[in-house]
Amino acid sequence: MNEKLIIKPNPNHFLNPARQTAPKLTEFESINKEHIDNVRYIMQVIADEIIAAGRDHDYTKIRDQYKGDYYVDLCNSIENGVDFSSTEWRRNHFQLERHHLNEHCPDDVNLVDIIESIVNTIVENCEINGTYGTVSVNNSMLLNALNNTIAKIKNYIKIKTEEEDVEKK
Ligand SMILES: [Zn+2]
Repeated sequence: MNEKLIIKPNPNHFLNPARQTAPKLTEFESINKEHIDNVRYIMQVIADEIIAAGRDHDYTKIRDQYKGDYYVDLCNSIENGVDFSSTEWRRNHFQLERHHLNEHCPDDVNLVDIIESIVNTIVENCEINGTYGTVSVNNSMLLNALNNTIAKIKNYIKIKTEEEDVEKK
């Protein structure tokens, strides 16, 4: 994981309702810049996760340790009527990857997984049928993903307390 973002609360923040004096322009600008930099940092962390999910998408179809089984199972299903949906490769594909959420939803499912799963469904439908198809995301899964994502974002941030400042002096 990236370094945690350290945020030191500013008791003189111009949005603090206790503040009685208007900020100087330089202070106003520096507080705004700090906020923009902080948000930019966390957005970059999330963007990196989306990029990684795209980069690793369907790795169980292309890495050598899985690829052969996929090929054999697929050919068997097309030519010999073997039920592809219950093969070991298929089970591994569902368990190891995070985009078949209706078949296997990890406890820590998050919004990046939901996005990958939506993209997967739409793209695959276009490839197979030439239609966008229907995307459905279960409400409780979505809520779980939302809460897990909020928890994840909080975990990227360390709030620096005054006590910690004193300790270091
Ligand atoms: Zn898949």
